[in-house]
Amino acid sequence: MTSIAWIGLGNMGSRMSSHLVAAGHEVRGFDVVDALRERAAEHGIAPVGSIAEAVEGADVVILSLPKGDHVRQVLESDDGVFAHAKPGTLILDTSTVDIETSQWCHGQAGSRGLRFVDAPVSGGTQGAQAGTLTFMLGGVEDDVADAKEIVAPMAGNVFAVGEATHGIAAKLVNNMMLGISVLAMSEGSQLAHQLGLDPKAFFDVARVSSGDSWALRTWYPVPGVVQGAAANDNFDASFSAMLCHKDIALAVAGAEATGVKVPAATLIRDQLQRLLDDDLGGKDCTLVVREASPDGTV
Ligand code: NAD
Repeated sequence: MTSIAWIGLGNMGSRMSSHLVAAGHEVRGFDVVDALRERAAEHGIAPVGSIAEAVEGADVVILSLPKGDHVRQVLESDDGVFAHAKPGTLILDTSTVDIETSQWCHGQAGSRGLRFVDAPVSGGTQGAQAGTLTFMLGGVEDDVADAKEIVAPMAGNVFAVGEATHGIAAKLVNNMMLGISVLAMSEGSQLAHQLGLDPKAFFDVARVSSGDSWALRTWYPVPGVVQGAAANDNFDASFSAMLCHKDIALAVAGAEATGVKVPAATLIRDQLQRLLDDDLGGKDCTLVVREASPDGTV
């Protein structure tokens, strides 16, 4: 049994951490939202009132936070991980952050005698629920080997991608491709509808044809077609437009820095930005389907 501190019990963290409890680990969980701590307790997480309480004495600290700023703050605040972790603690960051933040985490943790692995995930809340996420690990070989064992109960696939920040680099590229898939299925679903096709009949064709994608199979943006898709639930977020925008904007920034041309990624980034501008950032990213609809509604 390993003593694990889990920081961030949102859509992903709440589901992921429950698999560690089921695997027999002791998990103390903290989130700034009281209701999320209470919900986590129902899955066997021991809820605590501060990061310090979660981290004191833990062997492993796992983060599942929205953005790089949250990660930096959770690590370096007076109440934070660096101030309370014992020497040698392994810190895994499953959040999707910018590469600079990940580099900073590796450097700061290392200079304090702590171990850090960037450990972003793919597979959505469905994968988190099922314990079938893909993990992309970046860091020092021995730390990555230890991280592999810890994440196993939450994972379908675990890849040691390379050195520090290579996990997050893989994740940003992956999510840029996911965003472009969302754009494709949004336009396809609306065109199929306008051409008079039954949504389920078209979906059944596309998912076994060359129009298939993970986004299509998991998030088809028309109600009543795919179980678990946000479209069934008034586009309440499974993966919020705000977080999806963040990931694609980070990938586009990486492309700009390296001279790679990504017009499709830029287009979906701008569609997501319009959701944010309309105060819909908390809704699901698949609500971009409205952009393909003839009258702009869904
Ligand atoms: P979320 O917003 O549902 O959860 C993040 C949680 O962090 C929230 O509950 C929030 O209250 C908490 N938090 C923020 N600041 C905190 C602090 N200082 N201390 C403690 N808790 C704090 O987001 P999510 O969908 O669970 O995603 C988490 C991360 O995983 C993000 O980086 C996201 O990009 C990534 N991710 C999400 C998905 C998905 O499908 N939702 C898939 C893969 C990766």
